[in-house]
Amino acid sequence: MSEQHSVQRPPVAPARVTGRSADGTWMLAVLCPYCPAEHRHGGGDGKRADMTGTRAPHCQGAVRLPHYEIAPEESRTNWDREQSYAASLLRAAEEEAREAARRESAPGPATNQRNHELRALTDATGQRGRTGRNSAYLAAWQAKNKRSGR
Ligand SMILES: [Zn+2]
Repeated sequence: MSEQHSVQRPPVAPARVTGRSADGTWMLAVLCPYCPAEHRHGGGDGKRADMTGTRAPHCQGAVRLPHYEIAPEESRTNWDREQSYAASLLRAAEEEAREAARRESAPGPATNQRNHELRALTDATGQRGRTGRNSAYLAAWQAKNKRSGR
């Protein structure tokens, strides 16, 4: 079975340095474009923190999300645009997960686990209440639940 990914590029996420560990590794906080969380990533152990390249979102247990690319938060990136772009990738990933669930003869533990994790993420979204940045995520969720008749 061929898995067709229409991902053009990774979304860009704002990163900032939070400190340096004892072994000299830079520690970065990255505002996840998919979920309300701020994920921790390493920034190498060079003279300066490495704020380039892609990182795996730590929230991607529920659906397979494309990795994001990090950039210093003070860069001239259009974060709103990146956020809405990430939301479209999230919708695609959810669609893919839903298709996979449909192909299963019966919803197995994997599907239940996936749904559970997605719900936990959504609950966290509501609790954090960060204005704006999660509305697309919630909309995707609500649309998904409507379609599956919940
Ligand atoms: Zn995340």
